[in-house]
Order: sequence, then C-alpha cells, then structure tokens
Amino acid sequence: MDIKIIKTENKKSKPQGALGFGKYFSDHMFIMEYEDGKWGNARIQPYQPLTLDPSSSVLHYAQGIFEGAKAYKDKNGKIRLFRLMDNLNRMCDSAERLCMPVFDKQFVYDAIKQLVLLEEEWIPSDEGTAMYIRPTMIATEAALGVHASKTYTFFVIVGPVGAYYANGLKPVKLLVEEHYVRAAKGGTGGNKVIGNYAASMKAGELAKAEGYDQAMWLDAKYHRYVEEVGAMNIFFVINGVVYTPELDGSILPGITRRSAIQILKEKHIKVRECKVDIRKVAEAAENGTLTEVFGTGTAAVISPVGQFGYQGKDYVVNGGEMGEISKMLYDKLTGIQSGKYQDKYSWVDIIKE
Ligand SMILES: *Cc1c(COP(=O)(O)O)cnc(C)c1O
Repeated sequence: MDIKIIKTENKKSKPQGALGFGKYFSDHMFIMEYEDGKWGNARIQPYQPLTLDPSSSVLHYAQGIFEGAKAYKDKNGKIRLFRLMDNLNRMCDSAERLCMPVFDKQFVYDAIKQLVLLEEEWIPSDEGTAMYIRPTMIATEAALGVHASKTYTFFVIVGPVGAYYANGLKPVKLLVEEHYVRAAKGGTGGNKVIGNYAASMKAGELAKAEGYDQAMWLDAKYHRYVEEVGAMNIFFVINGVVYTPELDGSILPGITRRSAIQILKEKHIKVRECKVDIRKVAEAAENGTLTEVFGTGTAAVISPVGQFGYQGKDYVVNGGEMGEISKMLYDKLTGIQSGKYQDKYSWVDIIKE
C-alpha cells in the first residue's frame, strides 16, 4: 500500500514557552481506513478534525485503542525512535482483545517514521522534551448494535511535549485507592483500550481533591495487592530489592517497565516481579526498609513517589526525595533515548543521522 502525502498550506506557529504534555499537535497526521476486510486509503494529510457518524460504535461502546511512544532529537539534529515496534506489537494485542483488525506493523512503523520526519521541525531538542506519538484506532460503523464494528479508522497524531508532570521530577504524592478499581482479571486492564481511562478518572479526581497527585490502584478482588499508579507501572525498593507487580492480566505491560527491569538486572540489582502487598509496603515504610517508590511510563519515564496515603495514614518515602535507583534509571533511560549513552539494547532506531 502506498502512502499518499497531502501537505498543508497553512503551517501552524510553534508553541512558545513550556510545552506541557499533549497540548500541541503538529501540522500533519497519518490516517487509514478499514473496510471490506482490509486497510486502505493510507495517507499523511493536514492535521484536521475527523468526521464521524454520531452512531459510530466507538462513541457508544468504546471500541477503541491507542498507544504512546516518543521520538527524540539531539543537539546535532539526529532523530531517534524508542522501541516503537514494541508499541505496535502491544497495539495489535489490544486490537485482538477488542475484536478489532490488526495491521501490518512494519507498514505502520514506516508510516510513523515518514510522519515524524515530515514534522521534524516540531521535535523539540531541549533536555526532557520529545515528540509524543499517539497511534489510535477507533470503530466507525454507524450502528447501535453491540457487536464488533465492520469499519475502523486508524490514525497517528504527533506533537511536542515537555515534562509529563508540571513539577518535573519532583516526587508525587499518591493515595492508595481502596474502593474503586482500575481493572479486574479477565477484563481489559492488560491492554491499552480507551474505556479503561474513563473508568479510572473518578479515583484520580478524588485523590486530587484530598491533595494527592494520583491514585495508586489495588487489585479488584482483595483490594490488597498493588497494581499500578495513574497510567504508570510501579516499583518499590525494600531492603535493596526492587519489587514490581507481576503482569497477571490486569496490569498494563509497560515498555518503560520492561526497559527498567532490564537495566536493573544488568546492574545486578535484584528485581522481583511478584504480588506486592500494600500492607507489607506500609510496614516497610514504617520500619524504614522502604527506601524508594517510583512509577514508569513513556510520558514521565520515571516518576518518583515521595509520599503515599493508605487507610488514613501518610507514609513519606526517602524523606520525600527522589532516590538513587530512580535517579539512575531516569538517567540511563533518558540517556539512551537522547543518545547521551550508547544503546546496547537496540531499543533505539536512528531515523535521521
Ligand atoms: C501506557 C500505560 C503504562 C505505561 O506503559 P509504557 O509502555 O511504559 O508507556 C502503564 N499503565 C497504564 C495503565 C498505561 O496506560
């Protein structure tokens, strides 16, 4: 399939000042449509609104999936993609879970590469900045019956981003959520599907109303085992061992999570993927053996946790400061992404020298 390129006549002006996260989008987008059992009409076109029938199934039954990846530009103008194929693999897993069509991953990879290169001037190069890449697939059949749509639209939008959290690497405060759950076994928590996020907002808002930044999720059955935080995976350092919840179906298999685990193992730091009991974590915070907590995700890379509230009590982690292991991982990961460090893992694809 060829990709038609329709260039815009009206380039937007670039944002000035702080970029924030997900606020600005470039001049073009990639889009293709699925009809009669195949993908077609692939094109890069001016960034523009979509036209959807109001009965489109994505609007009613949330048959939609997405991904989040980043492209980096260094001081010399080299452009790097970080583990984008992993995102496309995960997106195809999400598609299968929601009875949506998969796609030719190499074709989409090349399309995104083309889009990123076309939008090169939109990639910021300051430290901590990147071009965020948001592939999305939605069900477009105009029908209110609850069944898998026959037609779909796949699109990719990109835009410059700064630090995910307004306060940068300042440790966040989490509230352990004991009532609401993000995902249950057998549900869709292990996939990046749009409905998961609507269901998670209530707990996030409640946490914010109480002065916390985000909710920490527990498992749906026992409300006892930690799953994730906001839209990040989570790690705890207890007695020098790094613990992270095992992937058991209700946890999103993060690419940053997987990368962090690999770096930790390489550094001979013990990592355990297992059930993480929040009571044990609170106990460890109490007796001083919990030395670090951090989240991992494409948006923030590493997000240190300085405090968490559980059952009416607040626990401070590492004096509210970012810990050594979190710092090391942040430095390593962002260093590989930006080209400061050699990429011995082949995570990076240099698309412009
Ligand atoms: C995207 C996401 C993550 C992080 O995944 P990465 O691949 O590291 O960006 C973690 N949890 C949830 C719920 C997510 O949506």
